[in-house]
Amino acid sequence: MKSASELASELVAIPSPNPGPLAMGQEPSCEAEVAAFVAELLESLGLEVTRQSVTPGRDNILATLPGRTDARLLLDAHMDTVPGENMDIEPFSGEIVDGRIYGRGAADTKGTLAAMLHALGILAGDREGPLPTVTFVGSVDEEAGFSGIYKLAQSGVQADAALIGEPTGLALVTATRGVARWQIETHGVAAHTCHPERGVNAIYKMTDVISALRRRVMDSFAERRHPLLGSPQMTVSIIRGGRRCNIVPDECTIDIDRRLLPGETQEDAVGEVEAVLADLRAADPELDVEMLKPYTFVPGTEIAEDAPIVQAACRAAEDAGVSPRIAGVPFTTHASVLSQRGIPCLVFGAGKAEQAHAATEYVGVEEVEKAADVIVGLCKSFGG
Ligand SMILES: [Zn+2]
Repeated sequence: MKSASELASELVAIPSPNPGPLAMGQEPSCEAEVAAFVAELLESLGLEVTRQSVTPGRDNILATLPGRTDARLLLDAHMDTVPGENMDIEPFSGEIVDGRIYGRGAADTKGTLAAMLHALGILAGDREGPLPTVTFVGSVDEEAGFSGIYKLAQSGVQADAALIGEPTGLALVTATRGVARWQIETHGVAAHTCHPERGVNAIYKMTDVISALRRRVMDSFAERRHPLLGSPQMTVSIIRGGRRCNIVPDECTIDIDRRLLPGETQEDAVGEVEAVLADLRAADPELDVEMLKPYTFVPGTEIAEDAPIVQAACRAAEDAGVSPRIAGVPFTTHASVLSQRGIPCLVFGAGKAEQAHAATEYVGVEEVEKAADVIVGLCKSFGG
């Protein structure tokens, strides 16, 4: 059997860049080659492989290792990466230099995908001791739409816990931030810029809105702190307005990106902004401002430190010589989707989050091997 790091290098050398959100009718198959590689490898271990079609040409790859206890554990790693353009190294070499595997996806998350596959190989050949039923899923489309994991969740997947493969630097991540995104529009009155007093400038109205949001909402976040995740965040990340340079703008739109702590709902996030808008409207009758329904909502997640999967991971880390470190990550992961189905999720993997999507992406050979050791130990220890 190949080592986990050899597998990681081979996986990096099979490009699977996610093209991002697509127009109707476009049918990418960015993961197809990686999916074929993963399916073939799992079959060579004697596992029965199922393909779950997500969109044409894009399949989640599922395989189940039958257990010797009643416990059920899910291992998930996404097979897509962000694109390899704008890298300052050859993106798909998978080259190993000085103990590091280089290329797009090495950290996010093919190092961990390889560690899971290697771990399954070890577990498949190990016929003694307690073992939960382990279902592996190589999922598609994590880097754009989450369509792969939504498909898995809708298929009625069940498990007592899930391990989500992402670069955590071997930390045991029990808390993840969520995200809500929505737009706010201001409407004004167009006029010739020779007579701006005849119009209502929608851009000026929007600057009032932004100032109030910074003062009353964003500045208050510092008081809300999660022990692993810090404060919530809110960013006005896009602004559009105006038609021509000589017309008083009659419309302006902003996009808000709000990072949520576990437990914060869409209604919480939108509600505190709506309250500010209501006060602004009361103070300025000319203000015509409207908030649109969120186009993205992914909740934050959190599991207790004494959850069985965390306990199993702590034991496995210690056995593998990795000091168990509980942490949170500020970004969203597949954990948000599976935890909505009541599955407690631990996020774990090789490589550092700073490496993900970076111009130079790599993962340590040693770290990939350690990740595989921890995954083997976790599987053996979970529900045993
Ligand atoms: Zn990832």
